[in-house]
Amino acid sequence: MSFVSPAARYEVTVPPPEDGSTRARSGVLTLTHGAVETPQFMPVGTNATVKALTPAEISETGASIILSNTYHLYLRPGHERIERLGGLHRFMDWDGPILTDSGGFQVVSLGDLRVIDDDGATFRSHIDGSVHRFTPEHAIAVQEALGSDVAVAFDQPVFPSSPRAVVADATERTHRWAERSLRAHTRPDQAIFGIIQGGLDPELRAASTRTIAAMPFDGICIGGLAGDETPEQRDAALDVAVPLLADDPRVRYLMGLGSPADLLEAVHRGVDLFDSVLPARVARNGQLWVPGGRLNLRNQRFLDDPAPVQEDCPCLLCRHFSRAYLAHLFRARELLAYRLATCHNLTFTLDFMARIRASIRAGTFPADMPDLRLRAGRVSGSAASEKSA
Ligand SMILES: [Zn+2]
Repeated sequence: MSFVSPAARYEVTVPPPEDGSTRARSGVLTLTHGAVETPQFMPVGTNATVKALTPAEISETGASIILSNTYHLYLRPGHERIERLGGLHRFMDWDGPILTDSGGFQVVSLGDLRVIDDDGATFRSHIDGSVHRFTPEHAIAVQEALGSDVAVAFDQPVFPSSPRAVVADATERTHRWAERSLRAHTRPDQAIFGIIQGGLDPELRAASTRTIAAMPFDGICIGGLAGDETPEQRDAALDVAVPLLADDPRVRYLMGLGSPADLLEAVHRGVDLFDSVLPARVARNGQLWVPGGRLNLRNQRFLDDPAPVQEDCPCLLCRHFSRAYLAHLFRARELLAYRLATCHNLTFTLDFMARIRASIRAGTFPADMPDLRLRAGRVSGSAASEKSA
């Protein structure tokens, strides 16, 4: 199964097995700045930087594509300034693929005093209180100025647990905005993905899947999850949406999911691409992910521990430093703590995705699920009350 547009080519190299034991699949998404093996995780560079890391360090974690936030870059330093300075890749010196989100999530979750009408959304900047307006056309123009490999259609996300009428209204508006985003998009070296909404209601989720899949997008985002829903509710929503896309040759991207346990279950249900601030955010709080769980480096017991955070980990932290040293850095609030911890958690996450891909390619993914679940640990993103912003 393959899909080709001027700016995106997706080829499923290992389709799901015929026996229905899993919908997990592996493939290659080729974009203007390079190829991305799926299933894949995208570290988030909110302000045109993956916090605390240089581009070389981002690469060293195993990342092949990053996400950057349209809303944040529009407000500061401004998309027109980035365009004048040669575009986002040159501005941040990242040569690999970049996906920009639509800004919809941040407008709804960060912008104060927002007013949403059929034409667009008016909001106050969370930085200085100034008033701004995003329409589908403007969100696309901002992303074309940034020059990302993948732009995303402007949408109106709502919390998964919102009342049905609220979800229905936002989902229908998202569909109208998807059509306008497509019409506004002109840049031939940039792909554009559309977003499925529909909340947790099976009928709304199915209708949104059919509507967005019928439009000529280059990829399909599954939005409105990784919020306040339970893992079971998320699984149920994926079990509605993904089977409707079974014969669709485009890549599937679940927005905002980031814990290894959650990533594994979503891959099993047929998702190809993910992003989240979670691994980096919890790292800066001193939570280091290791096989089977996590270590809290703020805990006193690590102050005398000479072992690396993870014995076999190839990251900058584990190659050179002990748990005792990192625990000291966190207590002293030294800047190096945030950099080293972020390198480790991203390396752990991207290595976990590589293990998943290897398992799918070997044809042993269903049999490997118990071991992969053990390695992921039991902490899910929603259970830890962490989410994307
Ligand atoms: Zn490490």
